[in-house]
Amino acid sequence: MVIGRRSAGNTLLGLINSLTKGVYPYPMNPISEIISRSPTTGEEVGRYPNTSAQTINELVARAQSSSYQWRAIGPRGRKVILRAWAHYLATHIDELGALIAEETGKPLSDALLETSIAIDHLSWAARNAGRYLSDSHRFSGLLLANMSSHVEYQPLGVIGVIGPWNYPVFTPMGSIAYALAAGNAVIFKPSEYTPGVGHWLGESFNRVAPSANVFFVVTGGPETGVALTKSAVDKIAFTGSTATGKKIAAVCAETLTPVLMECGGTDPAIIDRDCNINKAAHGVLWGAMANAGQTCIGIERVYVHEDIAPQFIAKISELAREIVVGREYGAATMPSQLVVIDSHIKDAARLGAEFVVGGVDSVQPPYVLPTIMVNTPEESLAVTEETFGPTLTIRPVATMGEAIALSNASKYGLSASVWSRRQGKAIARQLHCGMVSVNSVLAFTATPSMPFGGVKQSGYGRIHGPEGLREFTYTRAVVAMRFSIPLEFATFKRTAFTDRFIKRFVQLLNR
Ligand code: NAD
Repeated sequence: MVIGRRSAGNTLLGLINSLTKGVYPYPMNPISEIISRSPTTGEEVGRYPNTSAQTINELVARAQSSSYQWRAIGPRGRKVILRAWAHYLATHIDELGALIAEETGKPLSDALLETSIAIDHLSWAARNAGRYLSDSHRFSGLLLANMSSHVEYQPLGVIGVIGPWNYPVFTPMGSIAYALAAGNAVIFKPSEYTPGVGHWLGESFNRVAPSANVFFVVTGGPETGVALTKSAVDKIAFTGSTATGKKIAAVCAETLTPVLMECGGTDPAIIDRDCNINKAAHGVLWGAMANAGQTCIGIERVYVHEDIAPQFIAKISELAREIVVGREYGAATMPSQLVVIDSHIKDAARLGAEFVVGGVDSVQPPYVLPTIMVNTPEESLAVTEETFGPTLTIRPVATMGEAIALSNASKYGLSASVWSRRQGKAIARQLHCGMVSVNSVLAFTATPSMPFGGVKQSGYGRIHGPEGLREFTYTRAVVAMRFSIPLEFATFKRTAFTDRFIKRFVQLLNR
């Protein structure tokens, strides 16, 4: 592919064109293969390399050496290539969507929605990296008024991205697109449940820029993730469970490799008595059960004002009973999660939860039926732990203060949804979490300029937005002399006059 009309005599276009020509050799030397299967039928979808640690180390070295050229073409050059990739994804969206649907079991329409939002993020990162990563000029201070000061945002080098299966394009793209746009190379290890999608993403980028050598995909199981974590990458961007995140953070601690953690949650929805009950019920139900509840920012707990609790519970239950399983949402992607969902439902039943939709037999492999539990004790697993299924606990509360306190009592702090006509933003301000949607659900995911991430055991660091671009850079402070002045501070020949001047100056400034 040749991008741009003129290449001769234009260094940037020449460089870009050199990256977009050639044949991309896929340098895999698999120790064995992993098999990807449809969670709906159990049939084989494809076989992919179980990448060895040696191959990973070789790819990291290769990415490291080519990252200098990627850095050299600057944000303008990277924008051209990344937008060409976005164009490729947009024109092949049906192919990618079908593969996502096959590997995850989700409906095609959800797969297409996920891909569309991911492409929007890629395009935003490509278009905005130059703006948000340009030098930031700082005031040098009165004592150093003869100096100029600025901060640079430098790419880190090679980023290891480790992704989950639930949104196999949208989720890793939050790291991949922003890391590449910021000038880094990326080695991406997709989930062992969606290796085909990861492989497809790598192939598509390398079709657009076959000589760039800045985006490699390594497929395999957890041990492939371990090998990537232990390799010479300059940062790990992890999205997955909190349990795995802790293991990765421990390995990264040995080399002080920085790590971005996008982990799990038990996100609450707070429903105030002045809200539009109908809209709240529609929004909360979708936020809880879309993608079969396999959404990190999916709603798992509802705290509803007791004045409207009966109407809200009646409405959301009515809507939940209309869900056609297999059409509105699909099978559980990871069979072992069915055991977790079942244990949370049975634990809630044992502790006295009242089932208004579904029941103790809601898990019917490979599906889970919509399940809504009322008055589930706060100590039950369905409230304290991430269920990751189409289940919801609802608890009536006397005040919004109580709803806020219960929401914040969780060890997680990823996102929340607030429904109120008058108090939405005031409630949102008091929540201890990374993202809040007011009178909507999950809205921040489709807003590329907004940072995405959590607090507490939901993780740290941010993807998306200017913060997501800067996450894949380090800051460098540069202070340069503009002109000489008679007062020399940084010398062993500093005079008594200079000492007196500094002292008096500081005393005057701090009277
Ligand atoms: P997981 O933790 O089991 O696996 C995630 C990835 O880590 C996979 O690629 C896996 O192979 C790899 N891995 C496993 N063990 C590893 C190790 N010791 N070292 C290195 N890599 C290792 O998570 P999952 O089941 O794939 O995904 C579901 C989880 O992801 C849920 O908890 C969900 O909340 C979370 N999630 C979070 C976000 C977010 O942005 N916060 C987004 C999507 C999913």
